[in-house]
Amino acid sequence: MTSSTTARFEAYFDQWLHTLEADTHGGTDARPDTPTRPTAPVRYGEWEGPDGSTRPVRTSRPEWMRNQIDMALALSGLVTPDDVVIVAAPYELSLEGASVERAVEWLGASLISVGTSNTICPVPRLLGLLHRYRATTLVCSPQLAADLAALDEAGGRRPAASSLSTLVTTRPAAPERLRRIADAWGASATQLFATPARPATATPCRAGRLHLVADRFAARLRSPVQGRLDPGGTRGELVLDVHRPGEPAPVAQPTGELVELPAPGTSCPCGSGRQLVVPLGRVADAVRTERGPLTQVDVEHCLFTSPHPRGQVTSRPVGGRLEVTCAVAGTDGRQLPPLRELVRDRFGPAVELQPFDNDPVSANDPPPDEDPASAEHPVPEQDLTEGDTRTRSS
Ligand SMILES: [Zn+2]
Repeated sequence: MTSSTTARFEAYFDQWLHTLEADTHGGTDARPDTPTRPTAPVRYGEWEGPDGSTRPVRTSRPEWMRNQIDMALALSGLVTPDDVVIVAAPYELSLEGASVERAVEWLGASLISVGTSNTICPVPRLLGLLHRYRATTLVCSPQLAADLAALDEAGGRRPAASSLSTLVTTRPAAPERLRRIADAWGASATQLFATPARPATATPCRAGRLHLVADRFAARLRSPVQGRLDPGGTRGELVLDVHRPGEPAPVAQPTGELVELPAPGTSCPCGSGRQLVVPLGRVADAVRTERGPLTQVDVEHCLFTSPHPRGQVTSRPVGGRLEVTCAVAGTDGRQLPPLRELVRDRFGPAVELQPFDNDPVSANDPPPDEDPASAEHPVPEQDLTEGDTRTRSS
């Protein structure tokens, strides 16, 4: 960060930490406008349980503020005032999206806030925004980043030649897949890990791994099915035991997220001793096998040992099997049979590989600059080289 950004950031810290301290002391040191109920909820949200049902989650003001500070610290190594950042968070990550956007504003960057794949800002319009405002950073799901790259290529462009230099993904993906998506954009790739109760649950280190922000909660695993985890098991549903200011005992917050928690003390090249975590997706999206829960991330590890899959991969559990669709380079379909064999050798009948048949790119789609949404909502052209010194940061 530049010194001016650091100073602005510190001012927020001082103000917020003063408020937090006042909350902690029950308002005895509070200004007149300081609430005296620090445990009162300021945000409500939902999380998806292991059975796929939605359940409520609430966040108190101290939790929300501390999370916001964690998020800003995590992004401070990625975002500078020179950056133009697109944040495209889906509904289920709306709390995380809001947290990321606030942090981006703190850090002095420009923000383009959009939804995902909806009728107001469909993928072609989002791609148009990316080019028009020379976005340098894209915060979204791996799938959306891959869809945007495919659409860009279909429009005759080379995504790697775009202004985009940093990709921040908000849903789990195998590192090999993430690398391929980022390579298509010619960008660096970083993961964030969010849960509904904690938008900054785990943040990336300089070695590219995720560490839990665990100074205010303890992390443990519970079995995604009835019964206990295998002794020494490292894979299960993540449960956060949250220490809420003003409450005497930690509150267990299940997350519905399947993760691996490497044994405490497992070393990371960054030197941090904080707990490492490997997100694997929602428990509800995994299938059960004799060897434990199987996820799309497991299949991605296998698929992306081949050079042929593109970044577009989706999956859904069907009848106890994981049905995975994968976009493959080339148009003649020759690469699909060997990939099926690769997956079958690794996972047996638990996984069925399908061609990616709902590619967002079709011959009838207009190119991004001429899409109907942009035509209906024209964006005034601006010369960003005058009166605005933002440039690509790398
Ligand atoms: Zn690390």
